[in-house]
Amino acid sequence: MKQKLNLANLPTKIEKLNRLSLEWKTNLYVKRDDQTGSEMSGNKIRKLEYALKEALDNNSDTIITCGGIQSNHCRATVAAATKLGLKAIVLLRVSEKPKIEGNYFLDKLFGAEIRFCTPEEYKSSRNELMKTIADEISENGGKAYIVPEGASYGTGTLGYYECFMEIIAQEKEMGVVFNTIVVAVGSGGTYAGLYLANKFLKLGKRVIGMAVCDNEEYFKNVVYNIAQEALPHIGEEIDIDRCDIEINDKYVGIGYALSRPEELAFIAEVAKKEALVLDPVYTGKAMYGLYNELKQSTIPKTGNILFIHTGGLFGLFPKQEQFGF
Ligand SMILES: *Cc1c(COP(=O)(O)O)cnc(C)c1O
Repeated sequence: MKQKLNLANLPTKIEKLNRLSLEWKTNLYVKRDDQTGSEMSGNKIRKLEYALKEALDNNSDTIITCGGIQSNHCRATVAAATKLGLKAIVLLRVSEKPKIEGNYFLDKLFGAEIRFCTPEEYKSSRNELMKTIADEISENGGKAYIVPEGASYGTGTLGYYECFMEIIAQEKEMGVVFNTIVVAVGSGGTYAGLYLANKFLKLGKRVIGMAVCDNEEYFKNVVYNIAQEALPHIGEEIDIDRCDIEINDKYVGIGYALSRPEELAFIAEVAKKEALVLDPVYTGKAMYGLYNELKQSTIPKTGNILFIHTGGLFGLFPKQEQFGF
């Protein structure tokens, strides 16, 4: 297995959600990956522990990455790079002049260099745009390392391969077996790591990825490709098959980072019952999906369910007015 840095507060705890369990007639637990840190909080830092180790090993002095204006990934990358004494450049997707708030405010606070592109440029050529910035850095005598969107590539996904192993150790400590694991899917790297470890250990757990954009077919390919890319870093024989990558695309709603009233009402309800804050872009949609699938019995209520809270708190504040309080 590839080496990594220690940047996250690990292991993250697993808690039972008692009131929701009672109400939903199941045993629902949450893994608090929203508590991997504060500045670096959320799922991205697990992936960045591997990505930034590779960057340091390559003697890079600059980290380049990309995302939406409220990208948790960009904020975590900027914070981690800054902490390591590296320069951070982020390419952010914007359609209008952005308000300085949430994650974007923190990018600025940590001193990142910000570049903008349109949604069209982002979709068609974000990797080329980042490569152009990297070339600029080398012309000026520096060395840049590009972290792909969401750190969802072979190296980054190792963070969630490791997280799965952490969950297995916690199962033994707690005397609980999780039959079903549910996680939000935005760029696929989190799911891919969990998927690989589940396949490697042949535990047959059901790992469900709740898409927050795009569709099932798209993510099956994305996850498959990331998993393939990770195999040489893991160095084990793992049989990967598109058929057992489980993506549910029924809760994307009206699109990436856009919220329907019922999703926000659900976030408010979970907050009131459990003092657990979900985010509108990822975990709110993913847990809303879990809730609905339990109601329809497409996810069985028997056994123990683990929801991985992947973070996103800073992205909630720019949406506060939509709650209508
Ligand atoms: C990025 C992100 C996800 C999705 O993880 P991927 O590895 O990109 O699929 C889920 N939740 C939060 C809060 C995120 O920032």
